[in-house]
Amino acid sequence: MRRFLLVLIVLLWTSQACFAAVELSREGKPPQLLSEVYHHQGMPYLAIDDVLPALGLRGYWNSVAHQYVISTPSGKATFFPGGQYLKLGERFLPITHPARFIDGRLRVSENFVLEQLGTLLPYALYYRNLDPELAVPESSEGALDKLFAFLLQKKKASTEPALRAVAIDPGHGGEETGAIGLNGVKEKNIVLDVAQHLEKQVKMKLGIPVYLSRNDDYSLSFDQHLQSARHDNVDAFLLLHAQASLSPQPHGIHLYVRPGEDSFSASMPSAQDKPSSMMLALRLSEALRDAGFQVQEVTQAPLLPLVPGDLPTVLIELGYLSHQGDYDLLTREDGQARLAAALFAGLQKFASQP
Ligand SMILES: [Zn+2]
Repeated sequence: MRRFLLVLIVLLWTSQACFAAVELSREGKPPQLLSEVYHHQGMPYLAIDDVLPALGLRGYWNSVAHQYVISTPSGKATFFPGGQYLKLGERFLPITHPARFIDGRLRVSENFVLEQLGTLLPYALYYRNLDPELAVPESSEGALDKLFAFLLQKKKASTEPALRAVAIDPGHGGEETGAIGLNGVKEKNIVLDVAQHLEKQVKMKLGIPVYLSRNDDYSLSFDQHLQSARHDNVDAFLLLHAQASLSPQPHGIHLYVRPGEDSFSASMPSAQDKPSSMMLALRLSEALRDAGFQVQEVTQAPLLPLVPGDLPTVLIELGYLSHQGDYDLLTREDGQARLAAALFAGLQKFASQP
């Protein structure tokens, strides 16, 4: 079998961006940024419909045969979700990480792109993972050795203890608008946007379930707002809100936990401590501050008596819709994404050092 040159560059992403993303292109063409990177058991997955155009290839889903067909310079190649091989003419190329439907799209592993697609192409493929967590230590080995070191390292990373699932309650909904801010912006819409950004981050980077108490604009009973937290595997529960004040001055993020919860262990962490709401709130507030957001002290407030008593639960007031700076942040897509990324970083800190 002919072997084609694989160009693999894994570098640290030097900016502040903390989103998973990869750059992909065929040799000599400008790199395409693919920002939808889902992680499944430590392996990045990319939508096949994003990957092929970046490589100058075309393909389609054959819903009758239930398989995906790629037109390549060497002929038609087919594979199917969960399949262990890529079929090219009479050849069967083994697939170590099968394609799968994740969040509504057929996605292939990074390994599939580098190994199988790399083999099919008569030109070199440029691939660069921009996720700082996946950076590889310096080594003097060749490109292929580096590739294997890179994949092995990620396998190890995937075994770290992580959250099993996260529940998010975007406050209010339907006729219950919540706070009304500048230009009539409604809290219920802002918190849903941020919740959906966070949901995507968690699904993409951790590959774990995210339960939203609502994913559209409808009203919920008090009990329904808490329903998402009642799944057995939920390890953290975030309630998202935003506020508005008559005065234009108040601004910044506030985090609230139930009173009486082990504030003692929060100030003196030890290995025996169970994850608590205070721990979660502290990790979130550190991550938000690290990302440049203004965060007030964690406050204890009576809330949510019905949530299972020991489930780490934090209510987050994301900002003041009546404050121009907060308004700009919370109503802009990139601001919402940045906020969600910081909350995600907090959840990750919580999972790794609760
Ligand atoms: Zn609210």
